[in-house]
Amino acid sequence: MRAMKAMMLTGVSSLRENKSPLKLVSIPVPEPDPGEVLIRISICGVCHTELDEIEGRTPPPKFPVIPGHQVVGTIEKTGSGALKFRPGERVGVAWICSACGRCHFCLEGRENLCDNFMATGRDVNGGYAEYMTAPENFVHPIPDFFSDAEAAPLLCAGAIGYRSIQLTRLKDGDLLGLTGFGASAHLVLKMVRHRYPNTQVFVFARKEQERAFAKKLGAVWSGDITDRSPEKLNSIIDTTPAWKPVVEALANLEKGGRLVINAIRKEETDKAYLQQLSYPEHLWMEKEIKSVANVTRRDVVEFLELAADAGIKPHIQVYPLEEANKALLELKEQKIRGAKVLQIT
Ligand SMILES: [Zn+2]
Ligand SMILES: [Zn+2]
Repeated sequence: MRAMKAMMLTGVSSLRENKSPLKLVSIPVPEPDPGEVLIRISICGVCHTELDEIEGRTPPPKFPVIPGHQVVGTIEKTGSGALKFRPGERVGVAWICSACGRCHFCLEGRENLCDNFMATGRDVNGGYAEYMTAPENFVHPIPDFFSDAEAAPLLCAGAIGYRSIQLTRLKDGDLLGLTGFGASAHLVLKMVRHRYPNTQVFVFARKEQERAFAKKLGAVWSGDITDRSPEKLNSIIDTTPAWKPVVEALANLEKGGRLVINAIRKEETDKAYLQQLSYPEHLWMEKEIKSVANVTRRDVVEFLELAADAGIKPHIQVYPLEEANKALLELKEQKIRGAKVLQIT
């Protein structure tokens, strides 16, 4: 039986105490079940959600598990009845790995809300490995425009950023705020510049370097998380793991505006900040808060097309697979110079 390298997660721990939560292991290459494909992985993106899995905010249902849900590689083998792809084709796998296909959410195209939603790299093994299997209907072709490393971060940060924009109900010319300026937000900024040319984007970020980067990418204004924007904003997308930016964003929101929270979980550390929530200042005048949950296959496919069309390529930082722990730790410490990806083969 052929063996492969993988970075395996065996349990929940705090990254502050355990700086190497993933262990390098050698395990058998999986076999595709009927309807599945086996993918030889070239690149897997590193996502903030992996920190949530490792630290138990969205824990995997069973261990050990191989994390990673921004996977790019080539089809190595197809299982029986899997006819969509041929060996050698370049494909990607995103956060959504399967859904029931029968419930009313699935039938309405809101499979991201399905009770049986399965996430790549949490509920089933993901891409921090040389190979993985996935149902062929949840595997997507990658447009030629992107290299493997450029495509990987688009599969999560990009697709969920696209979903966040849809949920803001943004119209061209509306004023948009982004609080937090990591991988997803910088892709959102590029997407908005292409799709909504009359929309001005205001960026709130803790670090001067992030604020400068936002201006470079076309934000009209950037400030700290607690700053007031020069104008009230019609929509704001929050991509931070904290609560302070939520309260502060509500203060910057225009009447009838909507705050979209794009975070799978919030950390508990600054929850007390919610005590500063003032109904008249932060919520009255029909302000809304909406969260973003997961992605649908349609989000992934539409976003990849849009990104190729708009020439959107993420800034990336490459690590070898064996340095996955280092990449995760740097993400935790917010040492961010573009989207982090693991080079596998
Ligand atoms: Zn992700
Ligand atoms: Zn369903």
